[in-house]
Amino acid sequence: MGLKAGVVTGEDYFELVGSCKDGGYALAAVNCVGTDSVNAVMEAAAKNKSDVIIQFSNGGAEFYAGKGMPSGDAKVLGAVSAAQHVHLLAEYYGICAVLHTDHANRKLVPWVDGLIDHSEAHFKATGKPLYSSHMLDLSEEPIEDNLNECARVLERMAKMKMSLEIELGVTGGEEDGVGGEFDESADNSKLYTQPSDVLQAYKLLNPIGHFSVAASFGNVHGVYKPGNVHLRPEILKASQELVSSETGGGDKPLALVFHGGSGSEKAKITEAISYGVFKMNIDTDTQFAFAESVGAYVEENSKAFKYQIDPDDGTPFKKQYDPRKWLRAGEGGIIARLDEAFADLGSAGRSLAK
Ligand SMILES: [Zn+2]
Repeated sequence: MGLKAGVVTGEDYFELVGSCKDGGYALAAVNCVGTDSVNAVMEAAAKNKSDVIIQFSNGGAEFYAGKGMPSGDAKVLGAVSAAQHVHLLAEYYGICAVLHTDHANRKLVPWVDGLIDHSEAHFKATGKPLYSSHMLDLSEEPIEDNLNECARVLERMAKMKMSLEIELGVTGGEEDGVGGEFDESADNSKLYTQPSDVLQAYKLLNPIGHFSVAASFGNVHGVYKPGNVHLRPEILKASQELVSSETGGGDKPLALVFHGGSGSEKAKITEAISYGVFKMNIDTDTQFAFAESVGAYVEENSKAFKYQIDPDDGTPFKKQYDPRKWLRAGEGGIIARLDEAFADLGSAGRSLAK
């Protein structure tokens, strides 16, 4: 066993997902916004000998292209540029990297279709799609509409053995403009996915191609005061059991995804993984880790962020304000936070890369 280091797609990706589920570990899926965060994620993965998922929200992709890009579809082109960066470099980090895009609601379906166009061109040229997988989040719509659109998109992707992540039930909070406000005082019954909905999805999508489910078990995007989020991973277990008994798809037929992993209790993470979670998204915590580390650097070198030369003794500050210094401090923050995430998820030391 073992996979070639670099971006994994198709059968290699399916093997990686299977290895996670069989081995009882999960991959961190880290939202990135530029080369700094992408490189920090690959460096952290290499350091920990862990495979990893690099993902982009629509806003992250747009930012990658440049907020001031005067023409062209920045959401699509930014995601293409980011993917090309990872395709070029990931193998030199010696780990397997999965390329994925985050939440796309109805308004963002053209973004995903645009990226699939690019994967088709890449597949023609290289035999590999540009992305390993995409997500559609139509969880605000009636389940028939949600699943029918997922089926249409998966038909396109399955030809290149790409995988589709779908969302059933609503993850609380907002991810980059997609999803609603999280009302901490409200009755949060909508935050729990119904196993019967998961069964319906499996029956429709499994014959078409590879897919995964972002199921809601009380998880919420962002980090809130303790006590306001009640995770119930047993909902994941109930979904696995129902689908398994109805379809004979084995012990854990579903590939499950944990959104809103930032700030979660470690015991609940471990429990969720035991029920077939192979992917946990992390965004809020790595954003904070980057900001906190840059903040500390600026505080320590505060004069260098106001003056090019020390007004008291004439010392030049070039070495302190060089962006490579403080961006590197931010990267260090991301890496330290991912050391922790890879340990929590059990992926450290388990890269499949040969
Ligand atoms: Zn999410």
